[in-house]
Amino acid sequence: PAPGEPGARRVLLAAPRGYCAGVDRAVVTVEKALELYGPPVYVRKEIVHNKHVVKTLERRGAIFVDETSEVPKGARVIFSAHGVSPAVHAEARVRSLQTIDATCPLVTKVHREAVRFADEDYDILLVGHEGHEEVEGTAGEAPDHITLVESPDDVEHVEVRDPEKVVWLSQTTLSVDETMETVRRLREKFPLLQDPPSDDICYATQNRQVAVKQMAADCDLMIVVGSQNSSNSKRLVEVALEYGSRDGHLVDYAEEIDEAWLDGVTTVGVTSGASVPEILVRDVLDWLAERGYADVQAVTAAEESLLFALPTELRRDLKAAG
Ligand code: SF4
Repeated sequence: PAPGEPGARRVLLAAPRGYCAGVDRAVVTVEKALELYGPPVYVRKEIVHNKHVVKTLERRGAIFVDETSEVPKGARVIFSAHGVSPAVHAEARVRSLQTIDATCPLVTKVHREAVRFADEDYDILLVGHEGHEEVEGTAGEAPDHITLVESPDDVEHVEVRDPEKVVWLSQTTLSVDETMETVRRLREKFPLLQDPPSDDICYATQNRQVAVKQMAADCDLMIVVGSQNSSNSKRLVEVALEYGSRDGHLVDYAEEIDEAWLDGVTTVGVTSGASVPEILVRDVLDWLAERGYADVQAVTAAEESLLFALPTELRRDLKAAG
């Protein structure tokens, strides 16, 4: 069938997709630091969870390390968008590192909430994924007050000191629906559970999920561009399947798409996680066009215009350099 006719192959392209304000700021921070100070610039953990971004910055002179202890004394280190615990800041001070903190302001907001509720001696139930850097950073703000809750099924094991003084917070990149289910069960158990002062799941995570929900039922296959360690990207595949896409896969690059996935497929949905550069999505669209899926229709769920200023330390040095 010709494009537009029933049964014709097509692509539904989600918007918003790709870079959020926090990722954009973090990547630009490393780029500008490389330009301003010259390589090497150390970065603690992946600046954002995307293979392509990390490889590209590595080629330009960024050195990614797992811990600040691997950074030579006195050297310059950038903290990733996911945030770090106070212990990491303290260690950097001991080693006289020159730090640039690229933590997303929306992650910092959750840190502040954790500190505030811990100061008021609340039990904090942090909904999030064990081992994720953001969770390690947030939990490190108040280790004695925070209990991690990974899923709705975790709730039965959760204990608190005082059920009248308990609040939930969350990782910024979770599935909205699953988090709400976890919170529903928590509230069944602790009826006086308080909500965070404002949404912790960030605008970018939410918008990307809303777009996928709008198109999933029309898709035979959803291709999400993103890396395996990217929480928000992985959630997009889950949301697509939950909302009716017959199949769904997460790929870093177009080359990872298996032609067999296209068997019997009329409509392919395409989106990308918040850490994914648009060029990788373009590659996927080209790959699909070469196989007869050239008709691309946008599905727009929201407009985004948020931008964050670069970290203060970097802005100061950029200004001084003129
Ligand atoms: Fe910030 Fe959200 Fe982007 Fe994470 S996904 S960097 S919290 S805007």
